[in-house]
Amino acid sequence: MGFLTDMLEKAAGMNCQASNFLKVFSSLSDASTLGLLEQFAAANNPLSVTIQAANRFLLKTFCDGFRQLPPHNRHMEQSLTTGALLAIRCGHCANEMLKPGETLVHDLVYPPKPLKHHPRMAPPRPAFSQVLKASVERQDQTRGWCDRCKRYQQLSTRKTIQSIPKVLMVNTAIHSPDHKQLWSTPGWLPQEIGVVVQNGQFFCYEGSDLKYHLQRGFYDIMVYELVGMVVDINSADNQKSHLVSLINVAPSSPDPADQDQWHLFNDFLVRSTTSEEALRFDMNWKLPSILTYQAKSASHVIDDSWKENLDPSLLYYLPRGPHKSPDPTVLRNLNPTTELPRAGMPCAIDAEFVALSKAEIDIKADGTRETVRPPRLGLARVSVLRGAGPYEGLPFIDDYIACSEPVVDYLTAYSGISPGDLDRAVSKHNLVNLKVAYKKLWLLLNLGVVFVGHGLPKDFRIINIHVPRAQVVDTVDLFSHRLRSQRRLSLRFLAWYLLREEIQQNADKGHDSVEDALTALKLWRKYQEFMDAGIIESMLDDIFDRGRETNFKPPSVYKTERDTGEWRPETPGHMSVPGTPARKTVGLALLGGSNQTPPIKKDIFGSPIR
Ligand code: ZN
Repeated sequence: MGFLTDMLEKAAGMNCQASNFLKVFSSLSDASTLGLLEQFAAANNPLSVTIQAANRFLLKTFCDGFRQLPPHNRHMEQSLTTGALLAIRCGHCANEMLKPGETLVHDLVYPPKPLKHHPRMAPPRPAFSQVLKASVERQDQTRGWCDRCKRYQQLSTRKTIQSIPKVLMVNTAIHSPDHKQLWSTPGWLPQEIGVVVQNGQFFCYEGSDLKYHLQRGFYDIMVYELVGMVVDINSADNQKSHLVSLINVAPSSPDPADQDQWHLFNDFLVRSTTSEEALRFDMNWKLPSILTYQAKSASHVIDDSWKENLDPSLLYYLPRGPHKSPDPTVLRNLNPTTELPRAGMPCAIDAEFVALSKAEIDIKADGTRETVRPPRLGLARVSVLRGAGPYEGLPFIDDYIACSEPVVDYLTAYSGISPGDLDRAVSKHNLVNLKVAYKKLWLLLNLGVVFVGHGLPKDFRIINIHVPRAQVVDTVDLFSHRLRSQRRLSLRFLAWYLLREEIQQNADKGHDSVEDALTALKLWRKYQEFMDAGIIESMLDDIFDRGRETNFKPPSVYKTERDTGEWRPETPGHMSVPGTPARKTVGLALLGGSNQTPPIKKDIFGSPIR
C-alpha cells in the first residue's frame, strides 16, 4: 500500500495500476475467507457489505503490518482506533471484568423504529451526531462466560471511551427503509463534526451546536471534516449496484488555501464535483457505505520526512541462499562507502517476465492472429548494472524472483527463464521475494538514479513502478528517427549495427537481462559519442537506411525468422497490464525483402569517434 501510494504521488495525476497491491491482497488467506475476493464472494452479497468488510480488513492489516515494521510503534493504531475500556458485568452475580476495547470502524446503530400506536410519542428525527454517539458508545447485551459463576450468563457491556482517532471511519450499516429515509433527508450528513471525550463519554456536535461550543471554547473539541465516502449507486432497475468513491482531496494538499475539492471516482474516470452534490443522497439510488472523517488538525499536514531517512542497506547485500556466493567479476554488491547511489547516477536495467495466465488469441480466416487478451506477466528476473565508475557495466543486482503463483508459460525463448528457476526447492539461483526485488528498485528510484535501458516503459509497467521521465534514458527513444519512421528499433539490431555484437543469439537460452542491460548501456554511451561529435542525425539516417535493407534484423536473425514468424510476446504494444482487455492486432504478415544476407556496411565504424 505504501509503494502504491508513493507511485500515485510520483505519477502526479497519470493513471497507475494497482497490480502489485492486488497481487498481495489476493494472496492473503483472510481476504479470501472473508469473501473479499471476487471469486470467493457470495453471489448475492451486496457490494456495500463487501466493501465495509474490506475496509475493516484493510485497516486491521495496516495496523498489524505497521507494528511489525521497525521501530514497532503503535502510531498507525493510535491514528485509526477509538480506544475504550469495556466493563463487562455478569447479570447473575454482578461480577465486573474490565478489558480494553479498540474500534477501527464504527458500525452505525440507528434508533429503533417509532411505535405505530404511539404516533404522538414518535421521537424527532435523530441528528447524525446523535446516531454516531449512540453507535460509538453502544452497550451490548450478550451471553458469555462469567469467571465467578463459572458458567455462561447474560453479560452487559458498558463502554467508557478513552481516546479518539485522527481518522474516524464509519460503516453506515444501512439495513431498513427507515435508515434509507434518514439518509435521504437533505443535509443530514454534516461535513464537519466536533467530538469531546469526557468521563468516558463521547459527545458529538454538528451545525450550530458545534459552532456554539467552538466559540465558547470551554471544551477541548476535536473537529473532524468529512474527507471521503464510498457510495453505493443503483442507477437502473434490475441491475446490480456499483460502488464509487467521493473524495475531498483538499485536506491532503500541502496548501492550506485548498478547500472543498470533491472528486467522484468510478471504475473509469475521475471528475470533480461539488460538496452539495457529493453529500446529497437518495434512498432509491445513492446511499453511502463508508464515511471517513479526518481531524482538521491533520489537514494539509504532509510528513515527507521518510524521504530524508531512506535506509539503502538492502542495496549493499546480495541475496543469500543455499547456493554459492557469486563470482565478484560477474555480480558484485555496491560498496556502501564508495558507491552510495545518488541523484543522477546512471544504472542500466533490464527485466525478464514469465506468463501467469495465457494470452487469448483468435486466428482469423486469413491466417492473421489477433490477441484478444494479452498474458498476465509476472516479474521473474531483474538485473541492474553500474552505469558509471570503475566497475561500469558490472551488475550489483541480479535477482531471480521466487514465484508463489503457478507459471503457465516460462516464455523461455524471450525470458531465458526455465521451469525450476523460480522454485526455491530446485532453483540454482539465490531467489528473493518480489517485495525485496521491488524495494531495491524503489530505493534506487527514490535515491534519484537514472535508469538506462531499452524499452523501459513496458518493464516498469509490469514491475508496477512509476519512474518519472527525468530518471529514464531509453535507447528506444535515443535511436528513434521521428522524421522518417515510427519504427522502434530492436536492441538486437542496434547491437549488431552499432556495436557489432550479436546478442540474444541462442533461441534455446532466451534473453539474458544482464546482457541486455549492458547492451543498452553501451548503446547509450555510443549515442553520447555521436552527440559529442555532432553526427547523430547522419548516424540515424545510416541506421535507418541499413535497417530498410535488412528489414531491421541482424542478418543471421533475418534469415531464420523468415521461416518461423512466431508471435512475440515481448513486442512493445502487445503488452498490457494484468486484467486489462486490450485489443491489438498482432499482424503476422510475411517478411518481405531479399533472401540474401546483405553484407555488413563496414565504413560506418571507420568514423573518427571510434
Ligand atoms: Zn457471574
